[in-house]
Amino acid sequence: MDSWKLTQKNFSFSELGKYETLFSLGNGNLGLRGNLEEADSNYERGTYINGLYEVYPIEYGESAYGYAKNNQAIIDLVDGKSFVFYADGELLTTDKASKHIRELDFRKGVLIRSFTWHTKSGATINFKIERLVSLVQDSTAIQNLEIKVLNKKVDFEIISILSDNPHKKGKNTDDIEDPRTGSGYGKKVLTRKEELLEGTLGYFMHQTEISKISLFSGMDHSFKSEIIPEISSYSSLTDARISFKFKDIGGSLHFVKYLCYCHDQAASDSELKNIGLSDLNLSVNNGSDYYLNAQEAFLKDFWDKSDVIITGDQDLQLGLRFNIFHLLQSTGKNGKVSIAAKGLTGLGYEGHYFWDTEIYVLPYFTYTFPEIAKSLLSYRYSIIGKARERALELSHKGVLFPWRTINGEEASAYFPAGTAQYHINADIAFGIHKYISATGDDNFLMENGLEIIIETARFWYDLGDYIPGFDGAFCIHEVTGPDEYTALVNNNLYTNIMARENLLYASGYLNELEITNYKFYRDFINKFNISNEEIESWKNAASKMRIPYNSDFSLYAQDDAFLNRPVWDFEGTPKDKYPLLLHFHPLSIYRYQVIKQADLVMALFLQGKYFSLAEKKRNFDYYEKLTTGDSSLSACIQGIVGTELGYLDLAKKYLKQTALIDLKDLNGNVKDGVHTASMAGSWMSVVYGFAGMRDSGDKLSFSPRLPSGLEEISFKINYSGCLLHVKVLKENVDYKLLAGKVLSFNHYFENVVLSAGESLNISIQPKLKVVLFDINLENNFNELVLELESKGLKYIFLKEQDSIVSPPDPELYFNIIESLKVRRCDCLCITNSRVSEKALKSAEIAFVNIKNIEDNIFESIRKTHKEFSLNWDLGIHY
Ligand code: BGC
Repeated sequence: MDSWKLTQKNFSFSELGKYETLFSLGNGNLGLRGNLEEADSNYERGTYINGLYEVYPIEYGESAYGYAKNNQAIIDLVDGKSFVFYADGELLTTDKASKHIRELDFRKGVLIRSFTWHTKSGATINFKIERLVSLVQDSTAIQNLEIKVLNKKVDFEIISILSDNPHKKGKNTDDIEDPRTGSGYGKKVLTRKEELLEGTLGYFMHQTEISKISLFSGMDHSFKSEIIPEISSYSSLTDARISFKFKDIGGSLHFVKYLCYCHDQAASDSELKNIGLSDLNLSVNNGSDYYLNAQEAFLKDFWDKSDVIITGDQDLQLGLRFNIFHLLQSTGKNGKVSIAAKGLTGLGYEGHYFWDTEIYVLPYFTYTFPEIAKSLLSYRYSIIGKARERALELSHKGVLFPWRTINGEEASAYFPAGTAQYHINADIAFGIHKYISATGDDNFLMENGLEIIIETARFWYDLGDYIPGFDGAFCIHEVTGPDEYTALVNNNLYTNIMARENLLYASGYLNELEITNYKFYRDFINKFNISNEEIESWKNAASKMRIPYNSDFSLYAQDDAFLNRPVWDFEGTPKDKYPLLLHFHPLSIYRYQVIKQADLVMALFLQGKYFSLAEKKRNFDYYEKLTTGDSSLSACIQGIVGTELGYLDLAKKYLKQTALIDLKDLNGNVKDGVHTASMAGSWMSVVYGFAGMRDSGDKLSFSPRLPSGLEEISFKINYSGCLLHVKVLKENVDYKLLAGKVLSFNHYFENVVLSAGESLNISIQPKLKVVLFDINLENNFNELVLELESKGLKYIFLKEQDSIVSPPDPELYFNIIESLKVRRCDCLCITNSRVSEKALKSAEIAFVNIKNIEDNIFESIRKTHKEFSLNWDLGIHY
């Protein structure tokens, strides 16, 4: 299997929709579904421009103040992919195609289709059609047709079409109740204002009915053949057609169709037309070879920087590359648009942008192409005005970003799982902070990022309250966390912990800038009217933020009420009732402990620094059982935390689920578009999961480990102006600094410093690093210490009442040993204390009875641990 190509060898009409999505092409601006050229053989024809939408009022049976008023929906544009082919008067229909193969080549950026047509008149015609959406000229798509007529000469006709008939299929009954598909707004939204057909050229000017956005769509053609065709054209209410008639043709015919789509809200219609015509002209002059070569060159550089190699599982390798390729194709790069939940591959979720961008997609770009990460964040900044208005409308201070949107206005019609997901504000601040930490892009911080961070912090401070009943803790009420199977709750842990971070970023950045750039600081606080008291109030709210914890269960609670709800009847729920959202009323779901997607577990990942490993394990174990994974955003997060806890097989299962969700159509809805968050999640599963990368401190850290069946993972990380290559093998890992002067990072708990070109090959096997003592040791205490010191072993003392994590954890020993075990920081516990027996059992480490210590301790150490690290100097960090 070639993992650089997605190939369909057995064409089947029943899979039209699936492959239209999978074979979509795009460049972040323009997207073409992988429709067949024959106009009638389609599930849903699709041509989209990122951010080109129509608005229409949301119709509520019963409305209320502040409900989102208008929906925005990405538009299916003028279709230029279609042709009609005749040979000796016979029409080509898809069922006549034999040897039908389609192939999406990730290195060439081209969809190649080949098939043979045996005509009734006795000719054999071989078709090879290459389609590309240019990565170097974002208005442009090309179809390159090589037609070989064998056996006999034929009269051949190619009719090239530009169609402005709505191509959206009507929703079927199943789709109507599925909120993940588009809303079914099937009306014609494009009004034709102008058209021209002249020789090989044809174009339309359209305007959207309500949003009044103008669009130029044009086609032009070139051909190489001995025979000059007879060209004629005609247009109707539904399309424009140019016919090329080649009389008595045999051998090869090379025919190219150039498509161009332009829209620009700032430009007048005549300016727009000129831009479109000149782009079209440029394409014809450059010729298709130019674009094919440029595409390959562009992708060479792209893959050099961002390929992920995964050996041991070919499906996974293909899935990873396919996903990364689609991320490139779907993501807007001009700072004015973002990435839709379905990319540019379908109308699902109406082309809306969600938190998927900052929490799922942004990390990939931050660490591979930071300039694209910046443009995604710039898009958020471009809608800050709308976010300010929305906050005001809902009686809040600061800004409130929309849960789902294109133009910056809230477009979620169902507020309990929409607007109430206020966490979007903190997610955006989080994304900005990560981007700044990874790139050191202070200009972005000062020009855009800080304003968002400050205004979102203001929002949180205004939203929450100090509640006496919770010892004066700062509480946030009536929100929905990421888990959409629980809505409108008090103190959702994820929201609160992310809001806390948001408040800390705001005060932290301002305090730092006061020292490092006083002039900027002064101007900024004057402009935004920020007082010292306000900064202090953010810090205070952060320090008092309620993080719900239930000490009876030793568990964090997803929200104040969650652990007191009955658990969903999982055993009594047959498989065909999942996803639950399609079979149960929201209220029937909200009442129970049942989770759609990682929520608290997401906090364990993104804010992992606040939890001990033992806490992570306990909470993961509990919440995992309740998680249905009904959202495609869940599996990767469950897998990442699972890997950290040593559940490698489970994590591998989740990686497969994440990486192959579209290729294998695991959710059965790929016909409506790809799942971009999950695609980015597959990158996260490798990098944050199996390579164990963490980016919450002042430098990166890695704690790699591979599950059985995988032999290698490798990838590159762009951090702080450096390019680091990481190659994880079963036994060791290879770090190499490919570019940049010097990079310091952690491998487990060891600090590694690499200079340009330097590499380090280091074991990932555990080493004995820590000896734990129970302070209650009665005998031989001093002697033992002296002896260990003479052997160069470090030790730490523990007291049972020691509180090393917050909130105090009653299972002290269990916590520590679990943490060490889980971090593969092997340890030996020397104790005679009964309380630690449970811990010792769990840690599966040597239990040495203190009474026999003189006889056997070092012998035991030697037997249990083959390798010693005698220069341990890091201590244990929490
Ligand atoms: C998930 C959201 C996500 C949205 C778009 C929903 O099913 O619950 O978290 O943002 O899909 O991907």
